[in-house]
Amino acid sequence: MDTIRLGAATIHRIEEWRGQFLTPQTLFVGFTPEAYAESKDIVAGPYLDPKTDAIDARLQSWVVEIGGTRILVDTGAGNDKIRPGIPLFGNLHTPFIARLAAAGFAVEDIDIVVCTHLHVDHVGWNTRLHEGEWIPTFPRALYVFPRPDAEYWNPENLSRYPAKVGEAVNEGFFMDSVKPILDRGLAQLVDGHVEIAPGVSVDPAPGHTPGSQTICVSSRGETALFAGDIVHHPLQIMNPTWNSIFCEDAAMARRSRAALFERVVNEEAVMIPAHFAGEHAVRIERTSAGLRPLPVE
Ligand SMILES: [Zn+2]
Repeated sequence: MDTIRLGAATIHRIEEWRGQFLTPQTLFVGFTPEAYAESKDIVAGPYLDPKTDAIDARLQSWVVEIGGTRILVDTGAGNDKIRPGIPLFGNLHTPFIARLAAAGFAVEDIDIVVCTHLHVDHVGWNTRLHEGEWIPTFPRALYVFPRPDAEYWNPENLSRYPAKVGEAVNEGFFMDSVKPILDRGLAQLVDGHVEIAPGVSVDPAPGHTPGSQTICVSSRGETALFAGDIVHHPLQIMNPTWNSIFCEDAAMARRSRAALFERVVNEEAVMIPAHFAGEHAVRIERTSAGLRPLPVE
């Protein structure tokens, strides 16, 4: 679905990229053939090619309209970026801005940009190339970044954080997609529970990265939780201990994922991860066999 109505809020999906990305065997730490055999049929088709086991994935952003404020959640890989560590997302030339416009939003309309975490595929459209310089794509926006990630990925802090799981794959993003925003004084660095707009708050959910955070939208008793990469694929709903190979702190990532799923179940929330294909957003129910994804409507 490309539009989610949540109380008085409206949430629009803006797709940047779609394709097949690794297989469960290669993406997940903790994968076992037995657990996969038990959960595969639940997600095959919309989320997984049952013949090749390739994961159907998306890079997608969301615009939340709430109380007259327009908030862009995550900014994909961006155009023209040099990405030696992940050529799949380098030198892209997608019509992302045209798709944003088609959904009704000019770049000047965005009030707040918030990143679930700082990784190469979540920060790209923070900036665009203009006469050889990376400039903010959204000229009026306040950019909300998790402070722990802004410190962790800053190359100036390499001596403090020398052995990062995602060092190679994330090469380059800080300098072209984060630093230009920081240098212009356009970023709010957050750490902890912070309300970023009426009805919209962020909460720490560390592990995938030190600063990974959920973004909670509440309106008229309904809740949506943007989950970033705390969960990459619905297979992890049935197998919540499976981490991605890109998680920085494995134990913490498992704890944050379990806490997120618990909250989604208990609050009957809509969970909106960054990379889900299919319907792109799900609810979760608790059954005698464990957790299961549910359609949003
Ligand atoms: Zn991601």
